[in-house]
Amino acid sequence: MSNSEFEIIANLEQTKRLDQLYRQDEEQLVNELLEKAAINNMDMRSIQEEAIQLVTELRKQRTTKGGLDAFMFQYDLSSEEGIALMCLAEALLRIPDKENIDKLIRDKLVSANWGAHLGKSHSLFVNAATWALMLTGKMIAQPHHESFTDHGKGLTSALKKLATKGGEPIVRQAISQAMKILGKQFVMGRSIQEALKRARDKEAMGYRYSYDMLGEAAFTADDAKRYLDAYVCAIEAIGEESAGKGPFVGPGISIKLSALHPRYELSKTKRVETELLASMNKLILLAKEKNIGLTIDAEESYRLMPSLRLLEKILASGIAKGWDGLGLAVQAYQKRALAVIDHLKFLSDKYDQKLCVRLVKGAYWDTEIKLTQVQGLEDYPVFTRKVTTDVNYIACVKKLCEYKDSFFLQFATHNALTVSIVKHLCKQHHVEHYEYQCLHGMGDPLYDQIVSQKPCRVYAPVGSHEDLLAYLVRRLLENGANSSFVNRIANDELPLESIIQSPMEKLKSYSSKRHPNIPLPKNLFGEQRLNSKGLDLAQPKAFYPVLKEIELLANKMHFAQPTFLESKNPSAVKCYSPIDARHCLGEIVQATPESIGLAVDKADEAYQKWRFSDAATRSHLLNQTADLLENNRTELLALLMYEGGKILDDAVSELREAVDFCRYYAQEALKHHQATTLRGPTGELNQLSLHGRGIIACISPWNFPLAIFIGQVTAALASGNCVIAKPAAQTTLIAQRAIDFLHQAGFAKAVVQLLPTSGHLVSEHLLKDIRVRGVLFTGSTETARNINQLLANRPGPIVPFVAETGGQNAMIVDSSALAEQVVSDVITSAFKSAGQRCSALRVLFVQEDIADKIITMLKGAVLPHSKT
Ligand SMILES: Cc1cc2nc3c(=O)[nH]c(=O)nc-3n(C[C@H](O)[C@H](O)[C@H](O)COP(=O)(O)OP(=O)(O)OC[C@H]3O[C@@H](n4cnc5c(N)ncnc54)[C@H](O)[C@@H]3O)c2cc1C
Repeated sequence: MSNSEFEIIANLEQTKRLDQLYRQDEEQLVNELLEKAAINNMDMRSIQEEAIQLVTELRKQRTTKGGLDAFMFQYDLSSEEGIALMCLAEALLRIPDKENIDKLIRDKLVSANWGAHLGKSHSLFVNAATWALMLTGKMIAQPHHESFTDHGKGLTSALKKLATKGGEPIVRQAISQAMKILGKQFVMGRSIQEALKRARDKEAMGYRYSYDMLGEAAFTADDAKRYLDAYVCAIEAIGEESAGKGPFVGPGISIKLSALHPRYELSKTKRVETELLASMNKLILLAKEKNIGLTIDAEESYRLMPSLRLLEKILASGIAKGWDGLGLAVQAYQKRALAVIDHLKFLSDKYDQKLCVRLVKGAYWDTEIKLTQVQGLEDYPVFTRKVTTDVNYIACVKKLCEYKDSFFLQFATHNALTVSIVKHLCKQHHVEHYEYQCLHGMGDPLYDQIVSQKPCRVYAPVGSHEDLLAYLVRRLLENGANSSFVNRIANDELPLESIIQSPMEKLKSYSSKRHPNIPLPKNLFGEQRLNSKGLDLAQPKAFYPVLKEIELLANKMHFAQPTFLESKNPSAVKCYSPIDARHCLGEIVQATPESIGLAVDKADEAYQKWRFSDAATRSHLLNQTADLLENNRTELLALLMYEGGKILDDAVSELREAVDFCRYYAQEALKHHQATTLRGPTGELNQLSLHGRGIIACISPWNFPLAIFIGQVTAALASGNCVIAKPAAQTTLIAQRAIDFLHQAGFAKAVVQLLPTSGHLVSEHLLKDIRVRGVLFTGSTETARNINQLLANRPGPIVPFVAETGGQNAMIVDSSALAEQVVSDVITSAFKSAGQRCSALRVLFVQEDIADKIITMLKGAVLPHSKT
């Protein structure tokens, strides 16, 4: 994608509000939201009365029928057992070989405390499952099961007998079966025909269906093609079944854009807007011809802008004209949900097209939190308190009601209070034409009470176990969370009042609107240190200005030289970019043998004072350096790109690593600065304290010219040494800037010096000088050996030598690994940073049972257009 296209996206007037809200401070947003969602006390009371009826009936049904919600409550994800179960569910459905299944069962079941759950639930289903899990856990742990405690004679001994007969194979079969039942609970059918048939009974009760062909996040062009074909077949079949009922009454389809293209991401906008658009057009034309509804699911928040752009392209082309079935899901857990609705209204008006809008709370909450923390971004795109999502949902319902003429409204929820609120607000705004929606296997007891008055559409996943995984994990996460409605309803200790409490009142009652256990990404490491700042590469508004400045810095001339120069030094030599040999970056003066001697003299002299510096000062200077690196981000990114040949993504990671090094060693300096008094006989005082050694030579490579350079230098400085740093010849300019920032932070020039020179001169004149008391080196094994020998041959004390060298890095993959995860990690490890990490993957070993699948997927992922 060209820069000008990014510029257009970054400056789009109609998406300004969306950008503003993306990672907005939650505290600031909440007051506005509370106002927008406000419901007066009287109305709230009648809503709650209705919700109480729904909830009471739900609880009644649960105790008589038992079921999944009770099971999920008992094994919620705050328990070790809940997590073990989820790991099992995640893996068991796809591991092809028995041996690994047995190992996994042993691993996951033995350590958990199943007994603690026994008898805690009314539901027979849950208790039986607990017995089975406890039994298997114990049985595998103690094959002779002598110490087995007899809890509930009949059932226990029956299960015991069964389990002891066969050991792991029996357990494997039982658990595999249980997981399949769990899968079946959430999946409507293996084929669309099976699902359509299964739907008929409930359709007769008034339910409608939207089918979802399982499969998402295609990794290869072949996967995307397979999913496209599945959607086409499904639309054909649904069209037949619908027999002209139309998009509002008849069955429809839900589509995940990530399934239709292997590179559905912002940096591939051009491809997305040709290839993915072509697939979408095909599906839309077919759905229009069959006159069924087609809804685009909402996925991870970084995919929202590409999906809105795609929607606009579709609307602008006019292919959807004359058909009211096109829709989009909007996630209320996103801070920009209200702005998304405004944008959809804008598109609907502009292209004169009515849209179906499905309001959901959102299914990727855990992923959003994790991604934001890992990338060190400013703030989260989603709320951190569950109740804020509920409040935002209500604000969105109100807004949608206001826009009722532009949209067909669909409210997806399993929460009885949310259902009652929707009903009340729609009535208040005179919206008659709307529907509820629920997920297959989750909403029946609630909507069976409602469907005769208001239609409910069931989102019905269709597909094989192979494609079920990602969906099942989301459902387990959703149901296992103790804040979720289905989980709370199963908790008998929670009083009704708590379940139907007004979300607005609850939110108001919190003094901190942000969840106290979910710190901002910058505070991830708590008191220890600040997390380094990232750059949001999924948002043009955030990265485009940086890219623009980097472009402007292309002509900036840099200069590097030894920190102390002898008067006889040779003149400067020009240096050029590895990306474009015509692009002059600046000039470098190399150190002569004399200036190397001068560097050691200066450092030796400085050490006499620096050795007494206290740890707090060193720590402070390192933290200052970190801040300077961050404050001069654009210049450093430009150098990493022009001199180091990096792409922006890799440059950002490298700069963050350098900043993290500074802060980490600042913290380590403090940790070890006090002397420890050792125990000993009376009258003796033995103390252990750490001190600098003297002058440390740091020799770093070109592949990570900032991170490794800074890492070595700051480690040595933190422990009270003076440093003479020799950068790689290819990346001297960036090393010079790093040294400049260390000096600017307050390190004396003689304490940390730059020494650009050849490897030969370093060996002869720096490493042979006995005043150099240690060497830190990153580079080739061969050079490390040479340095090691040189130091060993030196007279005087033995010199510590720390060498980090390359090698053959292998990844060993067994069949319990998720293929998509393996392929993604292989690509990152082997090819990111141009494959130049010393830890980069060189050899991949894959268990035979899954080798063909992994090889095909890997080939498809690295060569998107290849036929594999
Ligand atoms: C028909 C249908 C279609 C759907 N399509 C999509 C889709 O396209 N995209 C999608 O993402 N989801 C989709 N979902 C899933 C949906 O997002 C979840 O089922 C829904 O969020 C559960 O909400 P609830 O009202 O049923 O339950 P509740 O228990 O009231 O709410 C649970 C929700 O609260 C939110 N939440 C949980 N913890 C926190 C927290 N700490 N801070 C902030 N928020 C929190 C999460 O969104 C969680 O799912 C769909 C659901 C249905 C029924």
